[in-house]
Amino acid sequence: MTYILKGETGDWETVIGLEVHAQVLTKSKLFSGASADFGAAPNSQVSPIDAGMPGMLPVINKECVTKAVLTGLGLNAVINNVSVFERKNYFYPDLPQGYQISQYQHPIVGNGEIEIDLADGTVKVIGIERLHLEQDAGKSLHDQHPQKSYVDLNRSGNPLMEIVSKPDMRSPEEAGAYVTKLRAIVRYLGTCDGNMDEGSMRCDVNVSVRKFGAELGTRCEIKNVNSVRFVQQAIEYEARRQIEVIESGGKIVQETRLFDTKQGTTRSMRSKEDAHDYRYFPDPDLLPLTVANDFIDDIRKTMPELPDAKKHRFIKDFGMSVQDASVLVQEKDRAEYFEKAAEGRDAKLVANWLTTELLGALNKGEKTLRESPVKASQLGALVGLISDNTISGRIAKEVFAEMFVSGKDPGVIVEEKGLKQVTDTGAIEKIVAEVVAENPDKVAEYKGGKDKLFGFFVGSVLKKSGGKANPGIVNDLLKKKLEE
Ligand code: ADP
Ligand code: MG
Repeated sequence: MTYILKGETGDWETVIGLEVHAQVLTKSKLFSGASADFGAAPNSQVSPIDAGMPGMLPVINKECVTKAVLTGLGLNAVINNVSVFERKNYFYPDLPQGYQISQYQHPIVGNGEIEIDLADGTVKVIGIERLHLEQDAGKSLHDQHPQKSYVDLNRSGNPLMEIVSKPDMRSPEEAGAYVTKLRAIVRYLGTCDGNMDEGSMRCDVNVSVRKFGAELGTRCEIKNVNSVRFVQQAIEYEARRQIEVIESGGKIVQETRLFDTKQGTTRSMRSKEDAHDYRYFPDPDLLPLTVANDFIDDIRKTMPELPDAKKHRFIKDFGMSVQDASVLVQEKDRAEYFEKAAEGRDAKLVANWLTTELLGALNKGEKTLRESPVKASQLGALVGLISDNTISGRIAKEVFAEMFVSGKDPGVIVEEKGLKQVTDTGAIEKIVAEVVAENPDKVAEYKGGKDKLFGFFVGSVLKKSGGKANPGIVNDLLKKKLEE
C-alpha cells in the first residue's frame, strides 16, 4: 500500500534509509582483549588501547571479522577480499583516542539485499549499501553529579557492524519491517543479540520527502533511535515537519536531529558534517584486512537456514499464508517451537494455535516462548486430539487454558475432566430426540421454512452434551430427525 502524506500543495512521498549499528556478539573488543559484555561496573573493562594510551597498538579480533563476513552472507551481499581500516577524527570526551577506527572507502561488505514482509502479505526487497566494522565510543554520564560529568569507557572499542541500507523505504511500516527483519537475521546468525533496549542495536534514521516522481529531497538524520516503535514515530513526525517547512517556503538543511521519546518529536542537534570534515585516512597501525575466498567459503558452510528461506519453505511445504509464515519465522525460538510442535501433526492447525492462542496468552502474561508453560510437544498433542476427533475445537480452548495454568499434558486433562468428544451415535441420537421433543413450536417453525432455526437446534444439542458431542454427527442426526 502506498503511504501518502497529504500537504497543502499535493501528495508527498517519504523516503527513508537506515544506518543500523549492531554490536558484534563476541567476548572481547574489536582491537583489544578487554571484555565487551554489557552491564559491568563502570570502567572495569578497559584496556590501555581502549583508554587511548599513547603507543598502544590495535590488533584485529578475528572473531569480529568472521561474524561480519557471516552477517554479510546473511544479507546476500558481496564480501570484499580486501578492506581498509581508517581513522575518523573527531573530539568527544568519551572518545579518548581522538578518533574512531572505522572503515570508509573500502568496507568489508558491499552491496546486498534483504526481503521485508508487510502486513498485507506483500514482500519488498530493500537494498543494502554496505556493512563495515568500527569501534564504539565510551559513554558520558551526565546524571551522576550536579556539576560534573563522568565517563565510562567500558563501551569504548566495542565491535560494531554498521549496516547501511539504500534509501529504498517509503513508509514507517517498511522501516519497521526492515529493522525487524535485520534483527531476526543477526539473531539467527548469532552475530548480534539484537537487544535494542540494551543498545546493542541502534538506528540512525535518514528521512527526506519529495513529490511523487521527483528527485530525492534533502535528508535529515535522526540519531540513535532504539526501538522499532520509536523509528516509526520519528519518521512520521519528521516527514510531516519537512513538508510543513517546504510548503511554507523554507528549505530543508541537511542536519543531525534527536528524537524526543516523550514528546514524539525531533529537534536539531547539529548541522551535518560531511565526510571530509573527519579527515579520514588509513590507520597506519593496521594493515589492510584481507579475507581469502577459502575463509569466506568455510564461513558460508556454517550458515543456518535464515528467516526468509524458512518462510518460503513453510509456505511451500505446509501451504500456509505469507502472513502466518512471516510471524512464525520472526524469532528463531518461535520457528523452532513450531517445527517441533508440527511434527506429524496438521501444520496449519498448529500454526493457528501457536500464533493466536499461545502467543496471545504469553503476551498477556508477559512471558517469552522459552518460559511457556505449554511445551511444543504438548501443543502438538493438543492439535492431535482435535485432528483425530477426540475433542472439538471448542473444548480444545478449555483444555488449552488449563494447560497454560497447570502445564499438564492435554491427554491427562481430557481424561481427568471427562472431556472426550461423544461420537457414539446412539448417545447423540438420544439428546437430539430430547431437544426436538422439548421444542415443538420451534420444530413447527422450522418445518414451516425458517431454516435459520437449524443453528438453534445444533447449539442446544451441543450444550446438552456439555460441548462434547461431535458437531458433524450432531448435524447429520438433527437433519435426519427434523425431516421425519
Ligand atoms: P552518512 O554517514 O553521511 O550518514 P551514509 O552513507 O553512512 O552517510 O548513510 C547515508 C544513509 O542515508 C543511507 O542509509 C542512505 O540510504 C540514506 N539516504 C541517502 N540519501 C537519502 C535521501 N535523500 N533521503 C533519505 N535517505 C537517504
Ligand atoms: Mg550516518
